[in-house]
Amino acid sequence: MRTQRQVVDYSLRKRAVLRELLAGRIGTYDVCDASPYLKNAARFHGEPTEDRCPICRSENLTRVHYIYGDELKQSAGQARTLTELPVLAMTLREFQVFVVEVCLGCDWNHLVEQFLLGRDGLVGDTEDGMEQGAMGGTAASAAGAGPAVRRRREAQR
Ligand SMILES: [Zn+2]
Repeated sequence: MRTQRQVVDYSLRKRAVLRELLAGRIGTYDVCDASPYLKNAARFHGEPTEDRCPICRSENLTRVHYIYGDELKQSAGQARTLTELPVLAMTLREFQVFVVEVCLGCDWNHLVEQFLLGRDGLVGDTEDGMEQGAMGGTAASAAGAGPAVRRRREAQR
């Protein structure tokens, strides 16, 4: 997606979990615990993949995209289909997407990645303090405060 940015990939963590499982340090009941909500989201909004479930190896994984952000208001925390995301990305300035993979066979689930979407990704770099000032209004400055804080936190990592 064009405005995708600040991507965090969790595949290393997934591999670590699978290693723990193989070594017997954790059980399948620890990792195959998809909630009914997550499974419903996978059924109705999920994106089918060609990837086999690493646990049961009998079903393909489904990816669910959860969206978060102040601009989403009551939609925050909901699942969206992959085709809905570019539309939202053109309407909103910034929102967070969490991608979770789920197996509808054995309930394996894991966070795959997270990233930001939204029109803010189109204006080039993120040093947009001037622009926010020019727009004025409390809504604009409130929306700008979040990402700035997040950027600082990321820099410290
Ligand atoms: Zn499975």
